[in-house]
Amino acid sequence: MRKLIIGANWKSNGTIQSIRSLVQTVLNPAIIDYKNTEVVIAPMYIHLPIVKDILKSDFHLGAQNCSLTGPGAYTGEVAAEHLKDLGIPWVILGHSERRHIYGESDAVIAEKVKRAGALGLKTIICVGENLDERVAGTTTEVVSRQLDAIKYSLSDWNNVVIAYEPVWAIGTGKTATPEQAQEVHGSIRLWIGSNIGRLVANSTRVIYGGSVTDENCKELLVLDDIDGFLVGGASLKPAFKTILEICD
Ligand code: 13P
Repeated sequence: MRKLIIGANWKSNGTIQSIRSLVQTVLNPAIIDYKNTEVVIAPMYIHLPIVKDILKSDFHLGAQNCSLTGPGAYTGEVAAEHLKDLGIPWVILGHSERRHIYGESDAVIAEKVKRAGALGLKTIICVGENLDERVAGTTTEVVSRQLDAIKYSLSDWNNVVIAYEPVWAIGTGKTATPEQAQEVHGSIRLWIGSNIGRLVANSTRVIYGGSVTDENCKELLVLDDIDGFLVGGASLKPAFKTILEICD
């Protein structure tokens, strides 16, 4: 049985004041107790220590990225070692905004996955096709290529979550239909089964991201191969609490 996991990707949003209030009102662990769902909150790097101070252990924290390099003369970079030092257990890697806006290739993501995994960080690895690729009917091919790239980066799949985030669904209000989502999630599980192993395929959580709301999460949650969500916009709103309650 796979435990559901819900990630909140706050992206480059929020002020110290707004995130304090969001954490206290929407996530306050003193008033919320989730038994069946693991929750990972991913604020911006500079907000991580602030959120860490307010949140209690019921929630886990994640970074949205880490550096391709270790600590050292790498101006502006935050290494996986720094996340570990701060006690941040999770890191999101390969998000489509990193791939498309910041030009991160499959090879760069594979190296980041390797570095984070080697330090024992848990990774949410994002894959997904863009609109042209979906229209061309190459979704499975694209997702398999992105997975092929990380195949040799990981020795421990216990610490891995795969997030299927179709690029055309991110921040657009267009969610994948349950059929579209299940088809790709099923193909990801098949890929894991053939490339890593059947037991790993059964135990690895595959989550969906792309315009998830408190309205549409129910119809996706019932699908066989959806083990949770990676939520962007809605995770900055009270709707996130509703999503967590529905899932739990
Ligand atoms: P939205 O939920 O805003 O579409 O963002 C999804 C996402 O990119 C999560 O990583």
